[in-house]
Amino acid sequence: MPLIQLYGHASLRKRLARSAEAGRLPSSLLLHGPAGVGKQRVALWLAQLLLCSGEDRPCGKCQSCRYMENLQHPDLHWFFPRLRLKDSDPDPDDVRDDYREAIADRVEAGGLYQAPSGSEGIFIAAVRSLTRDAMIAPALAARKIFVIGDAERMVSQEGADQAANALLKLLEEPPSDTFFVLTSSEPSALLPTIRSRVAAVRVPRLTEKDVTDFLQDPLVRAYMKKGKRAEPRADLLNGAPGRALNESEDAQAVTIARRMLDAAAGRTPERFSLALTRGVSNARGAFTDSLDALTVLLSERTREAVSRGDRLRAARLAGATDLVEVAKERASGNVNPQLVTAKLVMDLSEHLS
Ligand SMILES: [Zn+2]
Repeated sequence: MPLIQLYGHASLRKRLARSAEAGRLPSSLLLHGPAGVGKQRVALWLAQLLLCSGEDRPCGKCQSCRYMENLQHPDLHWFFPRLRLKDSDPDPDDVRDDYREAIADRVEAGGLYQAPSGSEGIFIAAVRSLTRDAMIAPALAARKIFVIGDAERMVSQEGADQAANALLKLLEEPPSDTFFVLTSSEPSALLPTIRSRVAAVRVPRLTEKDVTDFLQDPLVRAYMKKGKRAEPRADLLNGAPGRALNESEDAQAVTIARRMLDAAAGRTPERFSLALTRGVSNARGAFTDSLDALTVLLSERTREAVSRGDRLRAARLAGATDLVEVAKERASGNVNPQLVTAKLVMDLSEHLS
Protein backbone atom coordinates (compact mmCIF):
# COMPACT_ATOMS: atom_id res chain seq x y z
CA MET A 1 0.00 0.00 0.00
CA PRO A 2 1.43 3.42 -0.88
CA LEU A 3 1.56 6.13 1.74
CA ILE A 4 -1.28 8.61 1.60
CA GLN A 5 -0.26 11.78 -0.22
CA LEU A 6 0.31 14.95 1.73
CA TYR A 7 -2.72 17.23 1.45
CA GLY A 8 -2.44 20.99 1.74
CA HIS A 9 0.39 22.86 3.44
CA ALA A 10 1.54 24.26 0.08
CA SER A 11 3.22 27.39 1.40
CA LEU A 12 4.86 25.56 4.30
CA ARG A 13 6.22 22.99 1.86
CA LYS A 14 7.56 25.71 -0.39
CA ARG A 15 9.26 27.39 2.54
CA LEU A 16 10.84 24.16 3.81
CA ALA A 17 11.96 23.13 0.31
CA ARG A 18 13.55 26.52 -0.29
CA SER A 19 15.47 26.37 3.00
CA ALA A 20 16.62 22.84 2.23
CA GLU A 21 17.79 23.78 -1.28
CA ALA A 22 19.72 26.69 0.13
CA GLY A 23 21.24 24.49 2.83
CA ARG A 24 19.63 26.69 5.46
CA LEU A 25 17.31 24.14 7.00
CA PRO A 26 17.97 23.88 10.75
CA SER A 27 19.14 20.37 11.57
CA SER A 28 16.80 20.14 14.57
CA LEU A 29 13.26 21.17 13.76
CA LEU A 30 10.04 21.13 15.71
CA LEU A 31 6.83 21.02 13.67
CA HIS A 32 4.05 22.09 15.99
CA GLY A 33 0.37 22.73 15.42
CA PRO A 34 -3.06 21.31 16.20
CA ALA A 35 -3.51 17.54 16.49
CA GLY A 36 -4.59 15.97 13.21
CA VAL A 37 -3.25 18.55 10.73
CA GLY A 38 -0.65 16.12 9.37
CA LYS A 39 2.55 17.14 11.13
CA GLN A 40 4.13 13.71 10.92
CA ARG A 41 3.07 13.45 7.29
CA VAL A 42 4.82 16.77 6.63
CA ALA A 43 7.87 15.43 8.49
CA LEU A 44 7.92 12.31 6.31
CA TRP A 45 7.56 14.46 3.19
CA LEU A 46 10.50 16.57 4.35
CA ALA A 47 12.48 13.39 5.02
CA GLN A 48 11.76 12.24 1.47
CA LEU A 49 12.93 15.59 0.14
CA LEU A 50 16.15 15.46 2.14
CA LEU A 51 16.89 11.88 1.07
CA CYS A 52 15.94 12.34 -2.60
CA SER A 53 18.79 12.20 -5.12
CA GLY A 54 16.78 13.45 -8.10
CA GLU A 55 15.93 16.86 -9.53
CA ASP A 56 12.98 18.90 -8.30
CA ARG A 57 12.98 17.20 -4.94
CA PRO A 58 11.21 15.11 -3.83
CA CYS A 59 11.23 13.70 -7.37
CA GLY A 60 9.19 10.59 -6.64
CA LYS A 61 11.29 8.58 -9.08
CA CYS A 62 14.76 8.00 -7.66
CA GLN A 63 15.66 4.96 -5.60
CA SER A 64 15.39 6.89 -2.34
CA CYS A 65 11.92 8.18 -3.20
CA ARG A 66 10.81 4.68 -4.09
CA TYR A 67 12.05 3.38 -0.75
CA MET A 68 10.17 6.20 0.97
CA GLU A 69 6.91 5.18 -0.70
CA ASN A 70 6.53 2.40 1.83
CA LEU A 71 8.87 3.85 4.45
CA GLN A 72 11.52 1.24 3.78
CA HIS A 73 14.35 3.75 3.44
CA PRO A 74 17.20 2.64 5.72
CA ASP A 75 18.12 6.26 6.45
CA LEU A 76 14.68 7.18 7.71
CA HIS A 77 14.31 6.55 11.44
CA TRP A 78 10.76 7.13 12.64
CA PHE A 79 9.96 7.11 16.34
CA PHE A 80 6.62 7.75 18.01
CA PRO A 81 4.80 6.74 21.20
CA ARG A 82 4.52 3.03 21.78
CA LEU A 83 3.38 0.87 24.65
CA ARG A 84 6.15 0.06 27.07
CA LEU A 85 7.67 -3.30 26.23
CA LYS A 86 7.08 -6.07 28.72
CA ASP A 87 10.71 -6.25 29.67
CA SER A 88 11.57 -3.16 31.69
CA ASP A 89 15.03 -3.07 30.17
CA PRO A 90 14.45 -4.40 26.66
CA ASP A 91 17.13 -5.42 24.23
CA PRO A 92 17.74 -2.79 21.49
CA ASP A 93 16.76 -5.42 18.94
CA ASP A 94 13.37 -5.83 20.63
CA VAL A 95 12.84 -2.08 20.41
CA ARG A 96 13.80 -2.10 16.76
CA ASP A 97 11.45 -5.03 16.05
CA ASP A 98 8.62 -3.26 17.86
CA TYR A 99 9.03 -0.13 15.72
CA ARG A 100 9.47 -2.14 12.55
CA GLU A 101 6.17 -3.86 13.26
CA ALA A 102 4.41 -0.63 14.17
CA ILE A 103 5.62 1.13 11.02
CA ALA A 104 4.60 -1.85 8.90
CA ASP A 105 1.11 -1.59 10.44
CA ARG A 106 0.96 2.10 9.57
CA VAL A 107 2.15 1.51 6.01
CA GLU A 108 -0.40 -1.27 5.65
CA ALA A 109 -3.10 1.29 6.48
CA GLY A 110 -1.74 3.77 3.90
CA GLY A 111 0.09 5.75 6.57
CA LEU A 112 -3.09 6.40 8.54
CA TYR A 113 -3.26 5.82 12.26
CA GLN A 114 -4.95 7.00 15.43
CA ALA A 115 -3.55 9.37 18.00
CA PRO A 116 -1.61 7.44 20.66
CA SER A 117 -3.43 6.26 23.76
CA GLY A 118 -2.62 7.79 27.14
CA SER A 119 -0.23 5.03 28.12
CA GLU A 120 1.93 5.12 25.01
CA GLY A 121 5.20 6.94 25.24
CA ILE A 122 8.67 7.28 23.79
CA PHE A 123 10.49 5.43 26.49
CA ILE A 124 14.18 5.45 27.30
CA ALA A 125 14.78 2.18 25.43
CA ALA A 126 13.58 3.93 22.25
CA VAL A 127 15.78 6.94 22.94
CA ARG A 128 18.71 4.60 23.46
CA SER A 129 18.02 2.92 20.13
CA LEU A 130 17.69 6.33 18.47
CA THR A 131 20.99 7.68 19.76
CA ARG A 132 22.70 4.49 18.69
CA ASP A 133 21.29 4.80 15.15
CA ALA A 134 22.43 8.42 15.03
CA MET A 135 26.05 7.32 15.44
CA ILE A 136 25.96 5.12 12.36
CA ALA A 137 26.75 6.53 8.90
CA PRO A 138 23.89 6.77 6.39
CA ALA A 139 23.27 3.47 4.60
CA LEU A 140 22.08 4.70 1.23
CA ALA A 141 21.54 8.43 1.02
CA ALA A 142 23.91 11.28 1.84
CA ARG A 143 22.19 11.85 5.17
CA LYS A 144 19.86 10.30 7.70
CA ILE A 145 16.63 11.68 9.07
CA PHE A 146 15.05 11.11 12.44
CA VAL A 147 11.35 11.83 12.71
CA ILE A 148 10.11 11.89 16.31
CA GLY A 149 6.32 12.14 16.38
CA ASP A 150 4.40 13.34 19.44
CA ALA A 151 7.74 14.28 20.92
CA GLU A 152 6.14 15.60 24.13
CA ARG A 153 5.62 11.94 25.00
CA MET A 154 9.32 11.54 25.39
CA VAL A 155 9.42 10.39 28.94
CA SER A 156 11.45 12.44 31.32
CA GLN A 157 14.17 10.37 32.88
CA GLU A 158 15.11 10.54 36.49
CA GLY A 159 18.80 10.85 37.09
CA ALA A 160 21.32 11.45 34.40
CA ASP A 161 20.60 8.73 31.95
CA GLN A 162 23.32 8.63 29.35
CA ALA A 163 20.91 8.13 26.47
CA ALA A 164 18.79 11.14 27.43
CA ASN A 165 21.87 13.29 27.65
CA ALA A 166 23.17 11.90 24.39
CA LEU A 167 19.91 12.88 22.70
CA LEU A 168 20.12 16.44 23.99
CA LYS A 169 23.64 16.66 22.70
CA LEU A 170 22.54 15.30 19.32
CA LEU A 171 19.72 17.84 19.06
CA GLU A 172 22.08 20.63 19.91
CA GLU A 173 24.81 19.61 17.51
CA PRO A 174 23.65 16.87 15.17
CA PRO A 175 26.32 15.13 13.09
CA SER A 176 26.60 16.97 9.75
CA ASP A 177 24.69 14.27 7.89
CA THR A 178 21.79 14.09 10.34
CA PHE A 179 18.44 15.90 10.63
CA PHE A 180 15.95 15.69 13.44
CA VAL A 181 12.30 16.55 12.82
CA LEU A 182 10.19 16.52 15.98
CA THR A 183 6.44 17.00 15.92
CA SER A 184 4.10 17.98 18.72
CA SER A 185 0.57 19.25 19.21
CA GLU A 186 1.48 20.20 22.79
CA PRO A 187 4.83 21.95 22.44
CA SER A 188 4.48 23.45 25.93
CA ALA A 189 4.58 19.90 27.31
CA LEU A 190 7.95 19.24 25.70
CA LEU A 191 10.86 18.87 28.04
CA PRO A 192 12.34 22.38 28.25
CA THR A 193 15.79 20.97 27.61
CA ILE A 194 14.50 19.69 24.26
CA ARG A 195 12.43 22.73 23.34
CA SER A 196 15.36 25.05 23.69
CA ARG A 197 17.37 22.98 21.22
CA VAL A 198 14.96 22.90 18.27
CA ALA A 199 13.81 25.49 15.72
CA ALA A 200 10.02 25.75 15.89
CA VAL A 201 7.92 25.79 12.71
CA ARG A 202 4.16 26.11 12.89
CA VAL A 203 2.00 23.72 10.86
CA PRO A 204 -1.35 25.44 10.24
CA ARG A 205 -4.85 24.02 9.91
CA LEU A 206 -5.93 22.85 6.46
CA THR A 207 -8.53 24.62 4.36
CA GLU A 208 -11.93 22.97 4.20
CA LYS A 209 -11.24 22.09 0.56
CA ASP A 210 -8.08 20.19 1.57
CA VAL A 211 -9.98 18.48 4.39
CA THR A 212 -12.66 17.39 1.92
CA ASP A 213 -10.03 16.09 -0.50
CA PHE A 214 -8.35 14.17 2.30
CA LEU A 215 -11.64 12.59 3.39
CA GLN A 216 -12.33 11.53 -0.20
CA ASP A 217 -8.97 9.83 -0.61
CA PRO A 218 -9.58 6.11 -1.24
CA LEU A 219 -7.07 5.24 1.49
CA VAL A 220 -9.01 7.28 4.05
CA ARG A 221 -12.30 5.80 2.90
CA ALA A 222 -10.89 2.29 3.23
CA TYR A 223 -9.55 3.11 6.70
CA MET A 224 -12.88 4.46 7.88
CA LYS A 225 -14.76 1.52 6.45
CA LYS A 226 -12.45 -1.01 8.06
CA GLY A 227 -12.83 0.66 11.46
CA LYS A 228 -16.61 0.97 10.91
CA ARG A 229 -16.32 4.71 11.51
CA ALA A 230 -19.14 7.05 10.66
CA GLU A 231 -18.69 9.31 7.65
CA PRO A 232 -17.01 12.45 9.01
CA ARG A 233 -18.10 15.93 8.06
CA ALA A 234 -15.36 18.17 6.70
CA ASP A 235 -16.86 21.28 8.29
CA LEU A 236 -16.71 19.76 11.79
CA LEU A 237 -13.05 18.85 11.66
CA ASN A 238 -11.77 22.39 11.94
CA GLY A 239 -8.91 21.95 9.49
CA ALA A 240 -7.53 18.88 11.28
CA PRO A 241 -8.80 15.88 9.31
CA GLY A 242 -6.57 13.40 11.15
CA ARG A 243 -9.02 13.70 14.03
CA ALA A 244 -11.53 11.74 11.96
CA LEU A 245 -9.21 8.74 12.19
CA ASN A 246 -9.54 8.53 15.97
CA GLU A 247 -12.17 6.38 17.52
CA SER A 248 -14.61 8.30 19.68
CA GLU A 249 -14.23 7.71 23.42
CA ASP A 250 -17.43 5.66 23.43
CA ALA A 251 -16.19 3.50 20.59
CA GLN A 252 -12.87 3.06 22.40
CA ALA A 253 -14.66 1.86 25.53
CA VAL A 254 -16.56 -0.70 23.45
CA THR A 255 -13.35 -1.83 21.77
CA ILE A 256 -11.66 -2.35 25.13
CA ALA A 257 -14.72 -4.22 26.46
CA ARG A 258 -14.68 -6.49 23.40
CA ARG A 259 -10.98 -7.12 23.86
CA MET A 260 -11.56 -8.08 27.47
CA LEU A 261 -14.13 -10.68 26.42
CA ASP A 262 -11.84 -11.94 23.66
CA ALA A 263 -8.98 -12.17 26.13
CA ALA A 264 -11.23 -14.08 28.54
CA ALA A 265 -12.09 -16.48 25.73
CA GLY A 266 -8.38 -16.93 25.06
CA ARG A 267 -8.73 -15.49 21.58
CA THR A 268 -6.47 -12.51 22.03
CA PRO A 269 -2.98 -12.61 20.60
CA GLU A 270 -0.45 -11.69 23.23
CA ARG A 271 0.28 -8.35 21.66
CA PHE A 272 -3.33 -7.30 22.13
CA SER A 273 -3.70 -8.55 25.64
CA LEU A 274 -0.63 -6.57 26.56
CA ALA A 275 -2.08 -3.51 24.83
CA LEU A 276 -5.32 -4.13 26.64
CA THR A 277 -3.88 -4.06 30.10
CA ARG A 278 -1.59 -1.17 29.23
CA GLY A 279 -4.30 0.69 27.38
CA VAL A 280 -6.49 1.02 30.42
CA SER A 281 -3.75 1.85 32.86
CA ASN A 282 -3.87 5.62 32.70
CA ALA A 283 -7.29 7.11 32.33
CA ARG A 284 -9.52 5.98 35.17
CA GLY A 285 -12.61 7.56 33.60
CA ALA A 286 -12.02 5.73 30.33
CA PHE A 287 -11.56 2.53 32.30
CA THR A 288 -14.91 2.89 34.06
CA ASP A 289 -16.52 3.57 30.68
CA SER A 290 -15.11 0.36 29.31
CA LEU A 291 -16.48 -1.62 32.25
CA ASP A 292 -19.90 -0.08 31.58
CA ALA A 293 -19.55 -1.05 27.94
CA LEU A 294 -18.69 -4.57 29.05
CA THR A 295 -21.94 -4.79 31.06
CA VAL A 296 -23.89 -3.73 27.96
CA LEU A 297 -22.01 -6.21 25.80
CA LEU A 298 -22.70 -9.06 28.22
CA SER A 299 -26.42 -8.34 28.40
CA GLU A 300 -26.57 -8.22 24.59
CA ARG A 301 -24.89 -11.59 24.43
CA THR A 302 -27.19 -12.94 27.15
CA ARG A 303 -30.20 -11.94 25.06
CA GLU A 304 -28.67 -13.60 22.01
CA ALA A 305 -28.13 -16.81 23.97
CA VAL A 306 -31.72 -16.72 25.23
CA SER A 307 -33.08 -16.26 21.73
CA ARG A 308 -30.98 -19.24 20.59
CA GLY A 309 -32.51 -21.26 23.41
CA ASP A 310 -29.06 -21.76 24.98
CA ARG A 311 -30.13 -21.33 28.60
CA LEU A 312 -26.92 -22.59 30.14
CA ARG A 313 -24.87 -20.05 28.19
CA ALA A 314 -27.37 -17.31 29.00
CA ALA A 315 -27.11 -18.05 32.72
CA ARG A 316 -23.32 -17.97 32.57
CA LEU A 317 -23.27 -14.68 30.69
CA ALA A 318 -25.76 -13.16 33.10
CA GLY A 319 -23.60 -14.33 36.01
CA ALA A 320 -20.57 -12.73 34.39
CA THR A 321 -22.11 -9.29 34.80
CA ASP A 322 -21.72 -9.78 38.57
CA LEU A 323 -17.99 -10.15 38.04
CA VAL A 324 -17.98 -6.86 36.15
CA GLU A 325 -19.80 -5.21 39.05
CA VAL A 326 -17.11 -6.47 41.42
CA ALA A 327 -14.47 -5.06 39.11
CA LYS A 328 -16.28 -1.70 39.02
CA GLU A 329 -16.21 -1.59 42.78
CA ARG A 330 -12.53 -2.41 42.90
CA ALA A 331 -11.83 0.19 40.21
CA SER A 332 -13.61 2.88 42.18
CA GLY A 333 -11.28 2.14 45.09
CA ASN A 334 -7.60 2.66 44.81
CA VAL A 335 -6.79 -0.47 42.84
CA ASN A 336 -4.65 -0.09 39.73
CA PRO A 337 -6.88 -0.50 36.61
CA GLN A 338 -4.33 -2.85 35.12
CA LEU A 339 -4.65 -5.22 38.06
CA VAL A 340 -8.43 -4.97 38.00
CA THR A 341 -8.42 -5.83 34.30
CA ALA A 342 -6.07 -8.77 34.70
CA LYS A 343 -8.16 -10.21 37.53
CA LEU A 344 -11.44 -9.60 35.69
CA VAL A 345 -10.22 -11.26 32.51
CA MET A 346 -9.09 -14.27 34.53
CA ASP A 347 -12.40 -14.48 36.42
CA LEU A 348 -14.41 -14.13 33.20
CA SER A 349 -12.30 -16.77 31.55
CA GLU A 350 -12.98 -19.22 34.37
CA HIS A 351 -16.66 -18.36 34.59
CA LEU A 352 -17.43 -18.51 30.87
CA SER A 353 -15.41 -21.54 29.89
ZN1 LIG B 1 13.70 11.36 -5.47
